[in-house]
Amino acid sequence: MTDIPTLTLNNGVTLPALGLGVFQSAPEETTSAVETALRLGYRHLDTAAAYGNEREVGAGIVASGVPREEIVVETKVWVSDYGRDQTLRAVDKATGKLGLDVIDILILHQPLADHFDRTIAAYQALEEVYAAGRVRAIGVSNFTVAHLDRLAEHTDIVPALNQVELHPHFQQKALQAAHAERGILTQAWSPIGGITFYPGWGEDRQSVMDDPELHTIAADHGASPAQVMLRWHLQQGRSAIPKSTNPDRIRQNITLDLTLSAEELARIDALDAGRRSGPDPDHRDSSALLNRTIPDA
Ligand code: NAP
Repeated sequence: MTDIPTLTLNNGVTLPALGLGVFQSAPEETTSAVETALRLGYRHLDTAAAYGNEREVGAGIVASGVPREEIVVETKVWVSDYGRDQTLRAVDKATGKLGLDVIDILILHQPLADHFDRTIAAYQALEEVYAAGRVRAIGVSNFTVAHLDRLAEHTDIVPALNQVELHPHFQQKALQAAHAERGILTQAWSPIGGITFYPGWGEDRQSVMDDPELHTIAADHGASPAQVMLRWHLQQGRSAIPKSTNPDRIRQNITLDLTLSAEELARIDALDAGRRSGPDPDHRDSSALLNRTIPDA
């Protein structure tokens, strides 16, 4: 593996910039993916209550033999658990399934745009568990600048990070600038563009992985387009959490022995099409989201 930069959150907690994502990792594949990743040198894992695999992430940590304190475990509270008491209970669910006393980074999975009061109450519950030492850092996901502003009006702790869709075709530069002003780390989900190519999500998408410019840069370095995208994130100071359950690709994604020149970084920056492939956080049918319940541990 390559040396991965360490990032420092606004409360002093540190994390490796690169982590393993496990969205759509089937439970039966998750334990081995996590174990493989940790043995290959990953020390940061990103899961969520809604992924249905927190238990298997915990099992992978145990199976790897890597000491717990070396690993940054990040998970997310699902929207049906928003509200003070529900969110406090969601923390018990997450620690129970992960088999951990303390969660390193706990974030809200997404704003409930039409129930923002519940979103605020959920974040206030995160502030409570942070004060109680049950989580080391708290944050959000899929928040827009407007959501961050509304949250700030009602809460005390600036989110440590905002995990958002971010890849060469959707770079969210204004949001990244707002994060930098506020001391919020930008964490890229679908950092290699998974949302633009994984099957079953609509046929009209244009895969970032097929972008000719990325292929040209990759060929110049004897690297893959995924490695180029991950290096681009890391050189620009972001956290990235690529998902794979394939051992070769898990290894490839942490073997980033290339340095992009300023000119190459600028060529990737120029690929921004402003084209979101995932859901728009301001226009989601929250009733469908709220119908999904998270079982107890
Ligand atoms: P991604 O990591 O950009 O891409 C994952 C896809 O790329 C999978 O189909 C994977 O298949 C494939 N892949 C992995 N490495 C590859 C490589 N080196 N070359 C070619 N293909 C490769 O997309 P993502 O899973 O959407 O995002 C990553 C993580 O972000 C998720 O796992 C999750 O933890 C988080 N996330 C968060 C949100 C949110 O709302 N907060 C939303 C989406 C994702 P194989 O497994 O077969 O390798």
